[in-house]
Amino acid sequence: MIVVMKAHATDDEVARVISSVRDLGYDPRMIRGVERTVIAVVGDERGKAVKLSNLESLPGVESIMPVLKPYKLASREGHPETSQIRVGEGVVVGGRRLAIMAGPCSVESEAQLMETARSVKAAGANILRGGAFKPRTSPYSFQGLEYEGLALLDRARKETGMPVITEVLNPQDIEAVAEHADILQVGARNAQNFGLLKALGRQRKPVFLKRGMSMTIQEFLMAAEYVMSEGNPNVILCERGIRTFETATRNTLDLGAVVVLKEQTHLPVIVDPSHATGHWQYVAPLAFAGIAAGADGLMIEVHPRPDQAESDGPQSLKPARFAALMEKLRQFAEVAGRTL
Ligand code: PEP
Ligand code: MN
Repeated sequence: MIVVMKAHATDDEVARVISSVRDLGYDPRMIRGVERTVIAVVGDERGKAVKLSNLESLPGVESIMPVLKPYKLASREGHPETSQIRVGEGVVVGGRRLAIMAGPCSVESEAQLMETARSVKAAGANILRGGAFKPRTSPYSFQGLEYEGLALLDRARKETGMPVITEVLNPQDIEAVAEHADILQVGARNAQNFGLLKALGRQRKPVFLKRGMSMTIQEFLMAAEYVMSEGNPNVILCERGIRTFETATRNTLDLGAVVVLKEQTHLPVIVDPSHATGHWQYVAPLAFAGIAAGADGLMIEVHPRPDQAESDGPQSLKPARFAALMEKLRQFAEVAGRTL
């Protein structure tokens, strides 16, 4: 259920509804929108719907709506505006301005990270990406610089002022990663690691949730719900391609999912054309396509020397190519009603 408050409901009226919801044995979650406040009622509603409908008689309440979707907190029902998630000084994901997350797949060295960070910032990126803990298919592949990588990301943030996104692989690393990162990434391979999702819901840093390689849209939203149901509403979704029969691209970018997600959820949606395609030459066209489909931003891998990259070299753009993409994106963004 969702309790929709009147546009001019007072704080006292909202507080009264919250305490009544609690008295009925549910968990109230306040969602403050631009226009009005709504209170999501979380808990098992079976057999209790009658009592909940009584809330309609409380002062300041406009209406009570059942939420039909299994994802109650992620649903756009009762939360019509896209969530704007503040990820750093003046950087918001989900607003009119596109969020452009760029940087290397893996943090490899101070020189590599700083060179990449400076170049993507100069080209107009507003968030720096870089993996310190890497989820590799083979245990014999480069696993990331781990804690040393986090320290380098810190340095890059200090120098460039860009907020940083990096992946967290294990619940036991969350505290350390959250100390250094502005956004915590959950990779495709961990998208249904429910223990990790719940633990991320119990801390406050924004969570960047990548779609699992064979997840349906509903399963994707339920994964977001795991984080949100533990108390962290700051979830950003990422479509990074799904596994299909096609082998010409590394994955298949599901642009239809972007459109469906924008309709079904208020959470911001980012497109990652790098992992979706696996080849640098396909990245720019699908970046534009992602924005045309309604994405709130992009995640793009950039490396100064892709041929020497420890991971994902073939899909990484050289800085000059990234800058050229950003130049073109400026015009594209305008047509899509966005800014860079
Ligand atoms: C990454 O962002 O480098 C990554 C490993 O992505 P994904 O989890 O989408 O494969
Ligand atoms: Mn990668």
